[in-house]
Amino acid sequence: MPHTPQYDFDFIVIGSGFGGSVSALRLTEKGYRVAVMEMGRRWTPENLPPTSWYLHRWFWEPAMALRGFFRMRYFRHVTILHGCAVGGGSITYACTMLRPPAKVWDNGSWVGLANWKSEMPQHYDTASRMLGVIENRILGPSDKLLKRVAETVGVGQTFYPTHVAIFEAPEGQPAGVTVPDPFFGGEGPDRTTCKGCGGCMMGCRHGAKNTLDVNYLYLAEKRGAQVFAETKVVDVRALDDIADGGNGYEVRTVNSIASFNRTPRRFTCRAVVFSASSLGTMELLFHLKDKGSLPHISDQLGRYVRTNSESLIGVRVPRSTDDLSKGVAIGSGVYIDEHTHIEAVRYPEGSNTMSMLSTILTGGHPGAGRVGLWLKNLCSSLLHHPWKTLRVWIPYRWASECVILLCMQALEGHIDMKWQRHIYWPFRKFLVSRGQRVPTFIPAANDFAQKFAQVAGGTAMSMLPEILFDVPGTAHCLGGAVIAGSPDRGVVDARHRVFGYKNMYVCDGSVVAANLGVNPSLTITALAERAMSFIPPAKETAWDDGAVAEQSAHRSK
Ligand SMILES: Cc1cc2nc3c(=O)[nH]c(=O)nc-3n(C[C@H](O)[C@H](O)[C@H](O)COP(=O)(O)OP(=O)(O)OC[C@H]3O[C@@H](n4cnc5c(N)ncnc54)[C@H](O)[C@@H]3O)c2cc1C
Ligand code: SF4
Repeated sequence: MPHTPQYDFDFIVIGSGFGGSVSALRLTEKGYRVAVMEMGRRWTPENLPPTSWYLHRWFWEPAMALRGFFRMRYFRHVTILHGCAVGGGSITYACTMLRPPAKVWDNGSWVGLANWKSEMPQHYDTASRMLGVIENRILGPSDKLLKRVAETVGVGQTFYPTHVAIFEAPEGQPAGVTVPDPFFGGEGPDRTTCKGCGGCMMGCRHGAKNTLDVNYLYLAEKRGAQVFAETKVVDVRALDDIADGGNGYEVRTVNSIASFNRTPRRFTCRAVVFSASSLGTMELLFHLKDKGSLPHISDQLGRYVRTNSESLIGVRVPRSTDDLSKGVAIGSGVYIDEHTHIEAVRYPEGSNTMSMLSTILTGGHPGAGRVGLWLKNLCSSLLHHPWKTLRVWIPYRWASECVILLCMQALEGHIDMKWQRHIYWPFRKFLVSRGQRVPTFIPAANDFAQKFAQVAGGTAMSMLPEILFDVPGTAHCLGGAVIAGSPDRGVVDARHRVFGYKNMYVCDGSVVAANLGVNPSLTITALAERAMSFIPPAKETAWDDGAVAEQSAHRSK
């Protein structure tokens, strides 16, 4: 064991999502004393909400008494959806686990810093094994419809069942059967086979979803990691005024739920891993740089934030005889062209709140013109098909009659985040987005939705906020503290060591330096596995990861 009894922990990991849970497990396995600070709550099948109408157990906005696990953050360029829980985004995510195309390693600031194409496959393999990734066997009516439409438009050969982190019964075996841990030789918890209820994004109440609290984090806690739930990190600074953190760090926290008496606490440690997600890590590091706690963080913080170029559209099939909510949350996908990927998404029966955000499909050009076009289309549609048009936003049976189409593009494009005061609230600084507008819809995907509606006998839909405010939504915010060769280009090096500090790392979506074009959690997990593989076992550590020395050598070249 490292001789650090004067410190509360060897490592403090901030955030318990994909990057944080991998870090916690691998560090405890290496013999370190690890604490995980997590702002969100702990969830079990008993306290998860049955449908999306239980807003207070779904949304996270503690100031408004909403104490769920899902959060929406609004910026000028994008609305970012993310998770907030013990287990991070894994509690609310849709379990799709895809490897990106190899070309992503040829773009962005990480190019040439490692032999990514030969190194990463082994880490993807480990991540897939730990998360129990399989090819989805539960194809619901929405998936079958997606296949039919893909065949109609000539891309049927690209249809694939998604790879998912779900415990599904073998072919021909019954669903809903509980068995002793099938993944970790009996070390993990009992698990129940998937019922195909489509509820993954509301949190799985059946014990079938391979969330982080039943694999990485579960094993980390079993090996001694301490998870502090409802604990928000508000400060990290170097101990003893040693500028590069060579003597360790102090980490200050508050209770994330209490409005008053927030029970501030102080912990000390030798090393810190920031794993608060792209948005969370950016926000925390900006705050700490600005207030002088971590002044040497690279000025590149907040640059190259990527949204995976996403667009959410859908189709409502009134009086559908098939229940389109059945299956797993994202059961299948197709590629409609080289760059554009569409997945069939669903919410569980009864989770109909999304109906209030849907309207008829609208293309055109972003801005006021699109709002005008939407109003024109809406009037015309109301005249010609009044019932079908109204039906788009009527909550009753919305989840059972809708297929949501999640479209993603692996095209280059990014925005930046800055730490600034708002004109309308100048008393403190906030994260604000800057840069070129992100497109709010993908024309080829809209055409596909039209075709889908024709084949299924339904009505194609757009998301109303995307039209009215010209702001796209994304559940896949990446970047902001990207991997790069020097602090002039990014925030961490290829081993995720923070430029300017010793024994400080970032392991989460913020390090990703290219648009992946697929759902990112498997890549975040694999990158974290790789980053942790460079940390020596506790009994061999000299508590100098070489980051500062390597950087000085780089500067003097
Ligand atoms: C509805 C939805 C569906 C999704 N579906 C998929 C999918 O199917 N496949 C896929 O690959 N991805 C999916 N995603 C995206 C996926 O959830 C994220 O990409 C992933 O969780 C990011 O991992 P991370 O390690 O960067 O951070 P996260 O998993 O987001 O974890 C970060 C954690 O840090 C905590 N935190 C933040 N700040 C602090 C602080 N100051 N102190 C303490 N704790 C803090 C947060 O509460 C959070 O729990 C989905 C996301 C959403 C919202
Ligand atoms: S489909 Fe239902 S049972 Fe299966 S993992 Fe998702 S929520 Fe759990």
